[in-house]
Amino acid sequence: MCEEDIHVEIARDVDNEWWVGERLIAINSKQTYKKKFFCLMHEVGHYILHQKIEFKMRFPEDCAGAKGHKKTKRFVVDRLREEVLAWEEGLTYAESLGIEIDMDSYNRQRTKALYKYIEWASDR
Ligand SMILES: [Zn+2]
Repeated sequence: MCEEDIHVEIARDVDNEWWVGERLIAINSKQTYKKKFFCLMHEVGHYILHQKIEFKMRFPEDCAGAKGHKKTKRFVVDRLREEVLAWEEGLTYAESLGIEIDMDSYNRQRTKALYKYIEWASDR
């Protein structure tokens, strides 16, 4: 997967996030080991999606940068699509490495995370 370096920062004062420009995955250290790992899987999922050659075509609104972007319908829908796919890509990648996943916990964390995005999307 890794043709170029990406860095992972685990710290108390960061949100779980994939910083595209900085090639950095930030993981909040105040979570349990399992939650940190699932977040890492999800953020790697974002990385994999962004590596794909067709990403800019499939997610035209995301390329404008998420922070401070106007919440247009197209932007919100692209954001939701990417979040869903990042959870799936991360899981597929972990499975490809032979990592055994506690699917009940994973599904709970994915649901919680995606539900926050659904609330964000419907708050207009
Ligand atoms: Zn995400």
